[in-house]
Amino acid sequence: HLRHLVAGNWKMNGLKASTDVLDAVIKGHDAVLAARADLMVCPPATLLAAFAARAGGSTVAVGAQDCHAAAAGAFTGDIAAEMIADAGGKAVIVGHSERRTLHGESDADVRAKAEAAWRAGLFPIVCVGETRAERDAGHALAIVARQIAGSLPDSLPGDLVVAYEPVWAIGTGLTPTVADVAEMHGAIRRQLVERYGGAGQAVRLLYGGSVKPSNAAELMAIADVNGALVGGASLVADDFLAIAKAC
Ligand code: 13P
Repeated sequence: HLRHLVAGNWKMNGLKASTDVLDAVIKGHDAVLAARADLMVCPPATLLAAFAARAGGSTVAVGAQDCHAAAAGAFTGDIAAEMIADAGGKAVIVGHSERRTLHGESDADVRAKAEAAWRAGLFPIVCVGETRAERDAGHALAIVARQIAGSLPDSLPGDLVVAYEPVWAIGTGLTPTVADVAEMHGAIRRQLVERYGGAGQAVRLLYGGSVKPSNAAELMAIADVNGALVGGASLVADDFLAIAKAC
């Protein structure tokens, strides 16, 4: 049995004043809750160092939302995985659908970013997921299998987390049925075990897309769902903690 991981993706939200939310999450992650799930907060890059310092010594980890594949160089506006590690981050989300769509990231780009994460001593949270049109056409499993194949390297140099986030479920209030999540997570697990053997069994598979306190228990109980990647609800400490309690 894998420990659940509940990670909060704050996206482009949060100012210094939002440290209150982090403090409430740290306070709420008591011994009882810590036994159920690992908690991670992924704030915007401007807050990463301050949040990591604040969370130091607590059971709450801090991660980033994206990284560049290179360790340093002439890449204006980008952030290296090494910089995330230096700021105290433990993980980085790569290949989120908003990066794939709005910044044109390919599977090859995502794979290079995942490799950068391991190089810097972080673990990547690699995101995959189909669009509404792809699901309606009956292609969801094939699309996600192709994303997994292209976004991951041939061997795993370190810990890996994969997040299945159907694009149409992100920020919409819509979620797939329990049966559809179970089918997808089972397929991802089989693909990882075929590719990596026993190491594929240790990969935590997160579900993301409109996870909230009211649906978390049902989603977190599904076989091969090992946690959640939470957007909007992670900005409210009580909601985020309630999702973790549902694990
Ligand atoms: P919501 O939880 O707001 O739907 O966002 C999901 C997501 O994209 C997390 O990475």
